[in-house]
Amino acid sequence: MTDHVLVFDTTLRDGEQSPGVHLSLAEKLEIGRQLVLLGVDILEAGFPISSPGDFESVHTLSKELKGVTICGLTRARAKDIEVAAEALKPAERRRIHTGLGVSENHLQHKLRMSREEALEVGVAAVKCARQFTDDVEYFMEDSGRADLEYVYRVVEAVINAGATTINVPDTTGFTYPNEYFKLIQGIIEHVPNSDKAIFSCHCHNDLGMATANTLAGVIAGARQVEVTVNGIGERAGNTSLEEVVMALYIRKDKFALGTKIDTTQLLPTSRLVSKLTGMVVQRNKAVVGANAYAHSSGIHQDGVLKERSTYEIIDPKLVGAEKSEIILTARSGRHGLKHRLAEIGYNFTDERFEEIYDAFLVMADSRREVDEDGLRELVQ
Ligand SMILES: [Zn+2]
Repeated sequence: MTDHVLVFDTTLRDGEQSPGVHLSLAEKLEIGRQLVLLGVDILEAGFPISSPGDFESVHTLSKELKGVTICGLTRARAKDIEVAAEALKPAERRRIHTGLGVSENHLQHKLRMSREEALEVGVAAVKCARQFTDDVEYFMEDSGRADLEYVYRVVEAVINAGATTINVPDTTGFTYPNEYFKLIQGIIEHVPNSDKAIFSCHCHNDLGMATANTLAGVIAGARQVEVTVNGIGERAGNTSLEEVVMALYIRKDKFALGTKIDTTQLLPTSRLVSKLTGMVVQRNKAVVGANAYAHSSGIHQDGVLKERSTYEIIDPKLVGAEKSEIILTARSGRHGLKHRLAEIGYNFTDERFEEIYDAFLVMADSRREVDEDGLRELVQ
């Protein structure tokens, strides 16, 4: 087990499946270039057989992007795999991501196959994919609700067939961190050839636990995380790239693991993806939300102005933000007001400042925020 966690970005595949999102080829290429700058290890560019447009974008990204592994998704069918291999042909490094459901629910209702049949189909798909690349990832859809003994058998069989990465998706966002930890730990402990593959966390955020589950998987020994920028994706979304990367970084003391991500590119990447997908980032979103480094209460402002670490665990510069922000509201105090006034060039005697502070409180009670224009108005 290494101390490096691979970042597998699926913004352009799972993320693009968000209801209401559609990216043009030019937009996918722009995001792809930014993801390379950000330093993702593997970029899932699309699902080549799903449409001519998807084929084209996987093909174009394979041709244009260097220094990254390009991945294409397939079902466990020879035709899908051949088409994906064709789309990925120009890539410097290519990965085929194939697989099948493993839960009783998916086997019965979706695939209508017995366990044995599904196992054979999966093994055949891996062997087929290995004809085109030695980098094959196998996904076990709905692992979060599957029978563990069956999951162990599938993992052993597909590793023997040549899979090098095993994706353990909590497709429906159903598990909680302790369960997901045990799932990954159980696989690594019980499957005899588990040392021959890297295990990957792919979580969804239906119960708001995608980041926690992913990190639990990493603690259990997974060394790849499947994530999207801003956590976009089907329904409530996928695991958010920036949250996992910053958790590993800020809590190095706990994880002792690193990624190849240039954290100063996190905010520029978040903004680009938000702009091109039209998916607005909630203001209080962890790491990249507009309020993530903003302080409005008097006690917090006073603390941060004396020493940033009193109320901030992430230096905003680390994620590419300019600086912490002091937002003036009716909850703000003298220290914050004095600071903002000084920023725009005003310094007053104590007596004069008290007058301005009283006027500020009256103004702040009637508006959401006292901005720079409001401050000038006060001083006049
Ligand atoms: Zn997914």
